[in-house]
Amino acid sequence: MDMEDNGKIFFLRIGSNKEKEYVKKMGALFSGLLVKANYFEASPGMLSGIFLKFDSLKSPIGYIIDPVTYVFKLAPDYLHSWQKINKDEAEERIRSDLKLRKNDALPNAWIRKIQNPTKKQKNKVEIFNISKSYRHLADRYFPDNVANIAGNRSINNSDFDDATISSFVERVISYQKEAITGRYDTSRYSDFKDVIPEPITILSPYFLIENHEDLDLMQKIWREFDSQYKDENGALVLQCTIGFLENNLNLLLDTLESNQKSKIFFWIDGFDEEKASDSHLGAYVEFVEKAFLRGKKVTNLYSGGLTPFLFPFGLTGMVNNIGYGLQREAEPVRGGIPTAQFYIPTLHVREQVLTSYDLFIKNDIGKTKENFYKEICSCPICREGIKSGVKDFIPFYGSVDYPKTNPDSLKKYPTPVALKRCTYHFILSRLTEYKWAKNASKQDVIERIKEETTIWKTNKSHLEKIQAILKL
Ligand SMILES: [Zn+2]
Repeated sequence: MDMEDNGKIFFLRIGSNKEKEYVKKMGALFSGLLVKANYFEASPGMLSGIFLKFDSLKSPIGYIIDPVTYVFKLAPDYLHSWQKINKDEAEERIRSDLKLRKNDALPNAWIRKIQNPTKKQKNKVEIFNISKSYRHLADRYFPDNVANIAGNRSINNSDFDDATISSFVERVISYQKEAITGRYDTSRYSDFKDVIPEPITILSPYFLIENHEDLDLMQKIWREFDSQYKDENGALVLQCTIGFLENNLNLLLDTLESNQKSKIFFWIDGFDEEKASDSHLGAYVEFVEKAFLRGKKVTNLYSGGLTPFLFPFGLTGMVNNIGYGLQREAEPVRGGIPTAQFYIPTLHVREQVLTSYDLFIKNDIGKTKENFYKEICSCPICREGIKSGVKDFIPFYGSVDYPKTNPDSLKKYPTPVALKRCTYHFILSRLTEYKWAKNASKQDVIERIKEETTIWKTNKSHLEKIQAILKL
């Protein structure tokens, strides 16, 4: 690993084909790329190509495939999608994809007519079926008795006996190792196979921990992972609710410490760094500090605005998405109109462009060009668009248009160029924060937060909270 990075890492998560452009241009500036297994399954060719290309450049350091095993404990609806299919094949397809028996009844709501079908769709219907990628993952991860449950009901703790856990862990490890190499594993590529890189880190399977029973299952999984995968690049994944973390901090740390692996990737559910209570934010910081003192290298899979500040306090790594805000729940949220969001680097929050503008005015900051660069941002994108001060902000970052298909619509959409500017500004801002934080001292962090709280008159309670916690 690059010595300059002090062993610290910052990974970029790719979440959709639309983000390809950003990854191609900016990906090499990160320690590596991370992709969720369900998305990898949907675009394996494109993603393999990107990973191989970055590897040939020897930068970034590598890629990680997040096995996202937790989804199989969510309500089965989350694994389904509407799929168009010939009317005659509809029932049979659902039965075969969901591994149902011939006599099992299908809910009526799972088959529907297509609204305004085109000529080609005349004999087609839509079925609410398990997505192809989740079907494939379930079959790769679980022995048949558990794989057959996927999409029908949530998997629960009692579905796992020791034999199932052992097989599950083995399968999840080999899935990650073979996701790309397996694609080239034919006689034709046999020479080539050795040069195709495996993931830089192999992640343990994981499920959300909400109670002690969940922790017991995860400890069995971690132990099994520890004994099956000896390589140092293996990491345990901890996904737990903020409430459980706060109330069971020492138990969690003891449990993690009882395992060999020093790398921990974590995801705290129900936790928004900006809006969190003092005690939740305090529990997060305490977790990072204490895990570090116990010799663990902890990486936040869904890092928020304040996370970079924790590097000098024991954090090893962070991961950020291109596509959405700074925090993410285990249960996915669907839909909504895309809005242009602006990351405010001196406030460490991401807000809609209009909201950001209101905040600048309310706080009387960024009036002149010089003020804007000092008090808000001086990245190359801002320098290109903010020529005289905050009055350039909305025309540059917030341009909107009516949808072409419905010009009378009352809803306006951000223009592609506005979305692009916001995204590049976001990625650059986070890289700048990371590069600063990974070499900063505790004192540097405390001074920086102090300085930032003097810029802002309002909306800075999260900065004051973290300031008080880090000073304790
Ligand atoms: Zn900027």
